[in-house]
Amino acid sequence: MNRYFSYCRRSSEDEGHQVLSIESQQQELKRYAERENLTIIAVLEESKSAKYPGRPVFNELLKRIQRGEADGILAWHPDRLARNSLDGGTIIYLLDTGTITTLRFPTYTFENTPQGKFMLAIMFGESKYYVDALSENVRRGNRTKRERGWLPSTPPVGYLNGRSSSGEKIIVSDPERFPMVKSLWRLMLSGGFSVGELHTIAANDIGLRSRQRKRRGGNILSVNGLYRVLRNPFFAGQIAYGGEWFPGKHEAMVTVAQYEQVQTLLGNPNRARPKEHAFAYTGLIRCGFCGAGVTAEAKINRYGSHYTYYHCTHKKQHPVCAEKSIEERQLQDQVLAFLARAHVTRDEQDEALAIIEKEREKEQTSGSDRKKAASKALDQNRKELDTLTQIRYRDLIGDEEFSRQRAELLKQEAALKQQLDELSQESWIEPSRNFFLFNHRAAFWMTHGGLNEKRLILATVGSNPTLMSKKLNINARYPFVLLTKPRSSCEMWEVVRDVRIFFNKECTMYIPLLPDPDARHLKIAA
Ligand SMILES: [Zn+2]
Repeated sequence: MNRYFSYCRRSSEDEGHQVLSIESQQQELKRYAERENLTIIAVLEESKSAKYPGRPVFNELLKRIQRGEADGILAWHPDRLARNSLDGGTIIYLLDTGTITTLRFPTYTFENTPQGKFMLAIMFGESKYYVDALSENVRRGNRTKRERGWLPSTPPVGYLNGRSSSGEKIIVSDPERFPMVKSLWRLMLSGGFSVGELHTIAANDIGLRSRQRKRRGGNILSVNGLYRVLRNPFFAGQIAYGGEWFPGKHEAMVTVAQYEQVQTLLGNPNRARPKEHAFAYTGLIRCGFCGAGVTAEAKINRYGSHYTYYHCTHKKQHPVCAEKSIEERQLQDQVLAFLARAHVTRDEQDEALAIIEKEREKEQTSGSDRKKAASKALDQNRKELDTLTQIRYRDLIGDEEFSRQRAELLKQEAALKQQLDELSQESWIEPSRNFFLFNHRAAFWMTHGGLNEKRLILATVGSNPTLMSKKLNINARYPFVLLTKPRSSCEMWEVVRDVRIFFNKECTMYIPLLPDPDARHLKIAA
């Protein structure tokens, strides 16, 4: 007489599919065994996917059969036994060798004949196809979602999963944490804080805690967690997948340029965990001869004086690089000489600020044409929404048509509101102001500031600095290059105009606000 193991299995991938719960499977199998007069040795159950080999209970079952405890298996359907080619193959092999003599299923009749085994192999193959297709569908769904601009998984801190007005699953800003995390980015961009300091600020001063869930949540962000935030292009509005960036539709906290700036401040992106910088210019300068990084080391000479030397890491084998090292003071002098070219005196700074202020007032009173056009369009949009509601109320259109048109109008409304916001923000004013303040203050902080100020200033103004034959080659970035022209040849209002054009149109550049050295006895609030 045949002895059976009764095996039940259900996993998350069976949801929404015609698979009974484990209890129901057990009941069904018990009734079936009684009706068919089967001897059940043991009832085994498992809540694990059969997509991959390595189910512990199932493997134990096979071992016990091989030890001769039973001759067959009773299960609800062949797909309960295997959804991968390895487990399916094992069962067929055990049938071939006679270790298993019979399989019974209430939903499927198996005969231990060549045809029966052939059919069973097809059943296993179909089960495998089912999970493969399932994960392919998930993959395809995720890809579609990414292409439509939405992250297909749980968003990072500062964002939540939400739904649009038309019911689409989207990512929305977390009203509580979004401004907190955004201010962390702003502080990091200011360059005055190490990640460690920022971590303390996040925990104590800002009070950032993870979202409270049933049992978890309410925790402070770890240092590693903060690194993950600062390394994640999602905050710059991008969805990273498979080494590619997809433009996201969620609200960004920083621009891509600001994100890149933070990556520079954090150091080499290939290094998982950058160290705090012990030297001002390491990580920012490359060797002009071979292209390797320039590093620094501290040395004490025989008279006991401390020196810092910068030199090529000589990490590249080709070409063989023999660049000599340079003392930090010499390097610093060259950086200062570079900055002096774009320096703005106190008087020039005040003149530029006065011009900006005058422009701001002029715009506020007149109001730009674009602004008027946008608010007119917004009024029109609202009227159309009212009309649409009335049409629906009088039953002139159906629900579906109403929803479709309403969603379209709401989308337009959101775009117009955003446009109005941008126009009334006078987005060029603050960066332009910061720009002139920065250029006046940079020289002071380059001389008297700490490592972070020096790094930030060089990273902000300079573009791809290289070091060759002890000479620093560096170009001013736009718009700093505007200030390097001889001032006598152009008026300040022309400079302001060009700076404004830059910040108005394409600007994604963040100008850090260095503290005023003339007021440095005052504690500057972060
Ligand atoms: Zn080199």
